[in-house]
Amino acid sequence: MTITVRPGAGRNASPYLFGEEAAAVAEVLQSGQYGHTDVTEEFERRVAEFLGVRDAVAVMSGTAALHTALLAAEVGPGHEVVVPSMTFCATVQAILAVGATPVFVDVDPATLCVTDQLVMDAVTDRTRAVMPVLFGGRAIDFSRCRKELAARNITIIEDAAHAFGSRNGARRVGATGDLTCFSFGPIKNLTCGQGGLVIPRGHVEAATIRRIRLLGVVQSQAERASTTSYQVEGFGLRYQMSGINAAIGLAQLPHFEKAANTRRILWRAYQRALAGLDGVRLVDVDPDRSVPHLCQVLIPHRDKVHAQMKARGIGVGVHYPPNHLQPAFSQWRRDLPATEQVGRQVLTLPFHQHLTEADIDQIVTALGQALKTVGAASCTRS
Ligand SMILES: *Cc1c(COP(=O)(O)O)cnc(C)c1O
Repeated sequence: MTITVRPGAGRNASPYLFGEEAAAVAEVLQSGQYGHTDVTEEFERRVAEFLGVRDAVAVMSGTAALHTALLAAEVGPGHEVVVPSMTFCATVQAILAVGATPVFVDVDPATLCVTDQLVMDAVTDRTRAVMPVLFGGRAIDFSRCRKELAARNITIIEDAAHAFGSRNGARRVGATGDLTCFSFGPIKNLTCGQGGLVIPRGHVEAATIRRIRLLGVVQSQAERASTTSYQVEGFGLRYQMSGINAAIGLAQLPHFEKAANTRRILWRAYQRALAGLDGVRLVDVDPDRSVPHLCQVLIPHRDKVHAQMKARGIGVGVHYPPNHLQPAFSQWRRDLPATEQVGRQVLTLPFHQHLTEADIDQIVTALGQALKTVGAASCTRS
C-alpha cells in the first residue's frame, strides 16, 4: 500500500511562526540598529519575567550560552566536566572550547537523562562542573546531589536547550539550579531564528556573563555613546544576541503557552497511538511538568526501520549518535552500555507544531508497517 504523506509528517522538526515575527524584524531593520539594542534588552526582561528569574542574558546561540556559562564558572584546562554522551555535540564542543576534559557518563534509558548516581560516580577531585542535559524537555532536578556538588565547589550548568518552559515543581526550569542555558535555534520550543540564553545563579554574577558575551567590555551602549573610550575588563567574545533575533523571540513569547499546549496534545496523541504497537518502547515524558520537545521510541532493527520510514516519506531522525563514539571525541571514550544501546535503538518521530493528530495516526501506522516489514513485530496496527 502506498500512502500519501501529509506535509507535516515529512519533517522531523520545523520552526513555527505565529505571524507577527516578520513585522517585528522589519521594524528593527528600519530602525537602523541591529546589534545589541533596546530590543535585546527588552527580550531579556520579558523572558526573565516569563521564567520567574531576576536576570537573563541573551546570546547568539545555545552553543554560545554553554561556552559563556563555562567561562563564567571559570572552567578551564585541567578541569573535568561530567557530561552525558547522549546529547547534541554542541554540549561537548563547548567543554572543549574552554580547554577542559569531558568525562562522558551514561543515561537512564527510560528518560535519556543522567541520574544523581551516574553523576556522583563520575565526580573526581578534578571535576569543576557537571552539565546535565534536560533531554526532550524533562525537568530533572538533582535534589539529592546538588548539595554535595556545591560542597565540593562543582558548578551545575544545565543544558536546557530542549526544556524552555518546562517546570520543576511550581517553578520553571531556569528558576532552580545553578547556571541554566537555553537555545532558541530554529527548531527549539521557542525560536529567535538563532539564539540562546544564560540564567546566572549561585556564585556566577550576571555582570560576568554580560561582560563575556560583549567582548569583555563593561559599559552599556548608552555609556559608550557618551564617553571617548571603552574599557576591556576581561576575556570575552562577540556573543550578544542581535536585535533582529531578539525581535523574533519577543514576537513568539506571548504565544508560548498555546504552543506548549499544542505540543502536549500532540505528545498525548502519540502516546495513545503507540500504546497499540508491539515491540516499541516510548521514551516517556510527563507532559504536565514538561513541554515535550521530541517524541522518541526505542525499537529493534532501528536502521532498517529508519530506512523504511524514510522510503514512506516520514521525517524520522536520530537524537543522538552517542558523542563518546564520535571520531573527534574518541580520546575520551569509555564503556557506556545504556547509551550505546540507546544509540542503536532510538528513533525520533516527527514532532513539531505543524503536525495534526491525523498526521500522527499516519506516522504510527507507517511505523507499524515498517516494523512488520523488517520482522521486528508480530502484531501491529492494520
Ligand atoms: C540545540 C542544542 C544545543 C545548541 O544550541 P544552538 O542554539 O543550536 O547552538 C545544545 N544542546 C542541545 C541538547 C541542543 O539540542
